[in-house]
Order: sequence, then structure tokens, then C-alpha cells
Amino acid sequence: MDTIHITLPDGSVKDVPKGTTAADIARGISPRLADAAFVAKAYSNNGPLTNFGEPVEDGGYLIDLRRPLEQDLKLKILTDKDSDALFVFRHSAAHLLAAAVMELYPNVKLGIGPPVENGFFYEFLREEPFTPEDLGKIEKKMHELAAQDLQNERKYMPKPEALEFYKKSNQIFKCELVEEKVTEPLVSFYTTGKFIDFCRGPHIPSTRRIQAFKLMNVAGAYWKGQEGNAQLQRIYAAAFFTQKELDEYLHRLEEAKRRDHRKLGPELDLFSIQEEAGPGLIFWHPKGGFIRNLIETWLRDELIKRGYDLVYTPHIMRLDLWKTSGHADFYRENMFGPVEVEKADYQLKPMNCPGHILIYKSKLRSYRDLPVRLAELGTVYRYERSGVLHGLLRVRGFTQDDAHIFCMPLQIESEVEACVDFAYAVMKNFGFDKFEVELSDWDEKHPENYAGKPEDWHRATTALANTMDRMKIPYKKMAGEAAFYGPKIDIKLIDAIGRSWQLTTVQFDFNLPARFGLEYVGDDGARHQPLMVHRALLGSVERFFGILIEHYAGAFPLWLAPVQVEICPVSEKAMDYAKHVEETLKNHGIRVHLDGRNEKLPAKIRDAQLEKIPYMLVVGPKEAEAGTVSLRHRGKGDLGPKPLADLVESLRAESDSRSIG
Ligand SMILES: [Zn+2]
Ligand SMILES: [Zn+2]
Repeated sequence: MDTIHITLPDGSVKDVPKGTTAADIARGISPRLADAAFVAKAYSNNGPLTNFGEPVEDGGYLIDLRRPLEQDLKLKILTDKDSDALFVFRHSAAHLLAAAVMELYPNVKLGIGPPVENGFFYEFLREEPFTPEDLGKIEKKMHELAAQDLQNERKYMPKPEALEFYKKSNQIFKCELVEEKVTEPLVSFYTTGKFIDFCRGPHIPSTRRIQAFKLMNVAGAYWKGQEGNAQLQRIYAAAFFTQKELDEYLHRLEEAKRRDHRKLGPELDLFSIQEEAGPGLIFWHPKGGFIRNLIETWLRDELIKRGYDLVYTPHIMRLDLWKTSGHADFYRENMFGPVEVEKADYQLKPMNCPGHILIYKSKLRSYRDLPVRLAELGTVYRYERSGVLHGLLRVRGFTQDDAHIFCMPLQIESEVEACVDFAYAVMKNFGFDKFEVELSDWDEKHPENYAGKPEDWHRATTALANTMDRMKIPYKKMAGEAAFYGPKIDIKLIDAIGRSWQLTTVQFDFNLPARFGLEYVGDDGARHQPLMVHRALLGSVERFFGILIEHYAGAFPLWLAPVQVEICPVSEKAMDYAKHVEETLKNHGIRVHLDGRNEKLPAKIRDAQLEKIPYMLVVGPKEAEAGTVSLRHRGKGDLGPKPLADLVESLRAESDSRSIG
């Protein structure tokens, strides 16, 4: 009997007979692990494993628990603690969906059914559209099948037999897939009870644990995503290990809908996009404009405090400049077309960098001048396809809080640190306290794909990593994810409902300084090329505003609210006192609106609530008599009577401290 050696994650080695399965090994460790296991991951001891398909991100190969092991391996049993297991779980749930659909509608033709973020889909060709009632029926059938604990077993068929099988059942798309994808004599299938599907797996052992799922919607999709091909119906589903996780996800979706800035923008009269003017172009209405001004003013003050110089550059510049920078080549697809003026082509700017470079180059710089930090709230225009435009998040014209730092190699660590510190200050100021950081490095096996020398890359990446370590900021290293011109750090913030948004980028550039021949005179009297860093903290003001709206669900903290206080007089008789209150608050710099309409008090309060105004002051003869107001907060409700003078003080304090409570 042949023995193989299986190394477990704790380093222990099991000597087992050839043909032992991961399920056997899990059972040998503990019945609990055997029960919790979904799938296994094999790692080779030396060199890639053949006949295991493609490895996942960490180099491991996902395999069925019941696959017989034939060679020495490192093995990990995956449970609901592993995201790779979730992926396999969702894939198995997709097969379950197809099994249910085939039972209910035996004539549909099957497309593909992969796992996706938060769930899975399967696509079907069927003449009649799937209705919400159909989805209900299918979901019920899936639960029925799942409860039968159907085994997901791997079966092999010779290729001609597999093709014959699909031809007979008229599964044209599956025929096509088998023809295209299978290069070996045997074709791999998986069973789900009576249903059998062409698939290389792996899968979880059976349907029993597929319980927390929900069919979400149906969307049209061309076969293989190619226009002109048959149009299939994709049934999308959410799926999680547990009902609790599914419920949380569904709740987040509801919340996201409620917070959607495209809905809140018009409702709160913050901004609009006008078809008459063109898609992807933002009109900031007075209230949105007010908030933008607060953001920009805060930012400009902070830039000056932190040693940046504020500059302004033209929105349109000669196309030749964009040839020098290279954008006319590698960025052409994202630019508006050139405009001809006096026989020369001009280009609407998609980036601010070349403008800042021209300012740097306008005089000879010495090492004593460095670092030069040029900042601009720079408006740029990019051609985004109409299909990808999305409210304030993907637009065609936007303003970056952009800056370019030109420095010497010795200065990069302190510059990077200052950028990251600034980014955190920005986010904290606007009420965010959860972040994720990613460091994107080059693919060191292919230096030929990158601008700059290996020592540049090494120095810059080390500077980025050292800075993160020194600031005790955990980060994820993304090998091979850097742009061709330099490594970068991206900071993503996590919003009120747990979504992450890419915001800050601190990006080295080894390309532009060379293309523009940038120089400084060193202390050795010789000319050197400076290092260049692009950095944006908010990213774009438009996008940041969209994120802010969604984070706060439109209920901005006091310091950002365009109208901070609504005064609601109970009747005409209270108007004089209401005006006195209005005047007093205004004199203390509080943004106040007096609702002088001839409406009943509950209507006034309801409207102020809908506008998400932080405070409402109810004033009537009683309050006038006592010199007080009846205070209401949009979230906390009635706060009782307050002397006017005290109120002024507490509002000022809350606003000045930029409290987010
Ligand atoms: Zn599959
Ligand atoms: Zn730039």
C-alpha cells in the first residue's frame, strides 16, 4: 500500500494511504471539523500541482472534500471562516438554482452560473420572462431540493458522450462550452440529485447547508456578453453561510437604497444633472454649493497650514503638451476630443499634472527650494461612457483636490508620511473613522513593463511601507497592481453601512519627470531629476460629496448642514418673537430659516424633518413671554424649552467643534 504525506496548517504531517480524501483527514482531526468543512485547499510541496485546475490567490488549489489524494501535499480544510469556501458555496448554490429551474421549466436552455460578490447568478434561455411569482416558485423548489441533502458528486464523461448528452437535450450553450473549454478526453460534471452540470468544480459535498439565499432579480444578458448573441435571462441571488449574514446584507441593501445620493440630491435640493446640458455634468444647487464651499474652504486653509502652494491652471491647453506627457497616447480613450483654435489643437484637461509640471519648470529649482508642493482644486474632464455614469460617483467633469510634490530622494519618507497624515485628518474631519489601506507594487518579474529604474521602485515602495509601519497603519500589499509609472498607496474609507470607498491616492511617478526633463540643482552643483508624487485626498469633490450624502443619509452634521435651524412659529401672533429669534441666531453666525407660511405647526415640523434640518425651534406666545424656545432635534425629537441665550451658545459650540453627533 502506498503511503502519502499530508502536511496540515499547524505543521504536523499525517501519513495516510494513497486515495485518502480531505474529508477522511478532517474526520481524523475532529468530527466537528468534518461537519463544518465545505471544501479543501491543497498546496504543493514543490512546484505547481498538475491536474488541479487553476490556483487561487494564495497559490492553493481548491478541491472537493471527497477527492482522493494521490500525492504528498499541504492541505487545509476550509470552513465558513474562509472566503474561498464562500465562493465555492455560492457556486454550489448556483447549481442548485439550475437544478430547481430544470425541474420547474424543463425546456429552458442553460448558460453559465458563477458565484459573484454577495451571491451568484445562473443564466437561462426561455421565451417567457421569469416573473416575480416564478422566482418565488423557484426559491421554494430550491429549499425543497436543499433539504433533500442531494450529493454534489463529480462524474466524468468522454467528450463525445458529453457532447451527445447535451445535443440530445438540446442544450446548445453547454455544447458550445464543452467544445471550447474541454481539452482533455474526459469531461467533468457535477450532480445535484437528478440534475447534472458541466463543471470543473470544486463543490461543497451536498445541498444540505444551502439555506440562506434569496433570488433578487432577473436581468437580460447576451450570451458570452456579446451583443448580437442570444439574449438570456440572468437570475441573480444573494447567498451567505447563515441567515443572519443574509439578513444583514438585505438590510444593507435597503439602507443603501434609502441613502442613494441620486434620490437624496434632488429631494434635498443639493444638486442636479440636466439632460439639456449633457450627462455626467453636475449642477450644484445653492445648498449643495454651500456644503462644497465649506469643504473647499476647510481644505484650502489646511493646505496652506501644511506647506502647500495653491495654484490655478488652465482648463484647456495645447494638445502637444498632452503628447509630451503621453496622455494623448495611453489616455486618449478617456479624453474629450481636441478643439481646433487658430489651426492648433487644444485639449480639455483630463489631469492637472502637466499644468503643475509647467509651473515647476518655469524656473530653475535648487535643492533648497525642494520640496515644491503645488495644490489645486483642479477641474478635469474625462470621457466616461454613458453606460458607466453614476450620479456624482462617475461623472464627466469633476474637481480633484489634486497636488503634486516634487522632492529629493531623501525627502520622500517625510513627504509620504505628511500626505497620509493629511488624508486621515481630512477623513476624520468629515466624520469617517474606519479605513483600509492598500500598497500597490510592480510585478518584479516584468520590469520591462514599467517606467523608472528598479532602485526607484525599491526606494519608493520601501518609503511607502516604512511610513505605514511607522504610523502603525495596517495595509494590504497588492503585488503587480501598480500603474506602469510608479507604486502607490490607496486609502479606502468605510462608511456608515460598511461599504468601502476608494478615496485617497498617493502615487509615485517615474515617468513624467523624465518626459518633461524636470531638474533641480543639487548641493553638488549638478543637475538631478526630482521625484514626483501625485496625491489626491478626497479624490474628487463631486464623488466625495456623493459619499458624504450617503454616509449621513442626507442628515449632515450641524457644521455642514446648509440650514442649521428652522424656526416654526405656532401662529401669526408669534411672528414678532420668531423674527427676534431669527435675528439673534443670524447675528451669531447660525444658518437659520424662518418658516413664515400660514401652515399648522405639525406641517411645519414635518417639512423641516423631511429637509433633514438638524434643529427646529417652536416659538409661541408662551416662549415669547419667557424668552425661550421649544427645541426639537431631527433625530432625538422634543428636547424641551431652552433659554435663547443658552441655545445660541450650545449651537455655536456644536458647530465650531465640527461634532458629528
Ligand atoms: Zn459549476
Ligand atoms: Zn497628477
